[in-house]
This record gives sequence, C-alpha cells and structure tokens, in this order.
Amino acid sequence: MHRRLTIAIDGPMGAGKGTVARLLANRLGYVYVDTGAMYRAIAWKALQRQVDLDDEASVGRLAAATEIRIDPTPQGLRVFCDGEEVTAAIRAFDVNAAVGRVASHPAVRATLTGRAREMGQSGGIVMDGRDIGTVVLPDADVKIYLDATLDERARRRCAELAAKGERVPFETVCGIVADDDDRAMMRTTAPLRQAPGAIRIDSTGRSPEQVADEIESILRKDPHVSHR
Ligand code: C5P
Repeated sequence: MHRRLTIAIDGPMGAGKGTVARLLANRLGYVYVDTGAMYRAIAWKALQRQVDLDDEASVGRLAAATEIRIDPTPQGLRVFCDGEEVTAAIRAFDVNAAVGRVASHPAVRATLTGRAREMGQSGGIVMDGRDIGTVVLPDADVKIYLDATLDERARRRCAELAAKGERVPFETVCGIVADDDDRAMMRTTAPLRQAPGAIRIDSTGRSPEQVADEIESILRKDPHVSHR
C-alpha cells in the first residue's frame, strides 16, 4: 500500500495554481485545499463589515472569529464564511484589490496557517497558496513553485473577471497583480518564496493540463508516489 502524499503548490497571483491544483487533485483522487480562498473570505467579510483593512488587531480578531468551510464538489470548491456561501463573492474585483492587505497581517496569517496545517495533516492533499512549502507544510512530499510572466498572469485574471461580467481594463488588473506580487514577496511574515527543494515550473503559454502532466511525471519519478 502506497502512502498518500502531501503536495504543496506556491506561486504568484494568476500563475495557474488553482486550476492546476484542482486538476491534479482530481486525477490523483486527492483533496484540493485553496488557502487563497481562506484569505479572500476574511477580506470579503472585512469589506462587508467595513473594518479598516490596515488595522491588524481588528482584522486579526475578525479572522479568529470567522468560520471558513471549503467543500469540494465535482464543479469545484464551494466556500462558506460563517455558513454563508461566498464562492463567487470572494472572486470579485474589490476582494482582489483588498486581500493582499488582509494577508499581510501576522495575526491573520497565524490563524489561517493553523487551520490550513490541520487540513494538511492527513496526506492525500494538494494545497496551494503563497507559503505552503515554506511555512504551512514545510515537510510536504512534493513542492512546486508555479510562475508565469506578469503579462500572462494579468491576462488570465482579466479573462476570469470578464467571464463573470466584470470588465476591468487590462492595465488596472496588471497593476493589482503586480501590487499583490510586491506585497506577497516583501512582507516580513511568510513572504512568497520558492521553498527549499521546490521545483519551479513556468506556466506561460501552457495549458493547465500540460502543467498537471509535468507534475504527474515528477510524481512518477518519486518512488514513494502512488496513484490512488
Ligand atoms: O491565490 P489567491 O489569488 O486566491 O490568493 C488571494 C490572496 O491571498 C493573495 O493576496 C495572496 O497573496 C494571499 N495568500 C497568502 N497566503 C496564502 C494564500 C494566499 O498570503 N497561503
């Protein structure tokens, strides 16, 4: 009987982590955990409550007092914040623009890191985020750092927003994506970095299927790895 692995996928906004992680989890029969959705849920709630996003103590208290549930379904993850479905709401433009500020607070990160770590304990999991291989699951069996050019990442986010009827100019989205990169890489707590031992994959010009194929071929080379 083979061990069910823990797979960590990190990288900047729009690198394709979510799509690739979901695809990979489906193929392997693993659970997919989207930690970005947890940060987004807190940002969504902070916006709803008009909490000052730069006030660490307030946003930290809000995070500690919020129940976030992520339910896997064949159509993708459904996200609930205190029992209310926020799957679509957390992808809105205002949340995109706010979430980096929320995620920069150590108090928020401490709460969400603890919760993500609990979810990762059992194995048979693909978890994506910014600090999974470095902080949340440093002992993950396989670590991937997924990247793409800023242009491509902004194009993907633009298309994602347009698909939901939010037409945001490319330059605006590009600014938000670049800003999120800066915040994630410059923050002092759990900055976005390629974890030691992580394999870097560039998804520019490649489909999620191609990237998932590459990760599967990496898994096949590892003697500990099994498929279901
Ligand atoms: O991946 P996604 O775009 O959904 O992430 C939403 C926000 O949460 C981003 O600002 C990202 O920097 C932050 N984040 C984080 N740590 C994680 C996952 C996401 O700071 N583990």
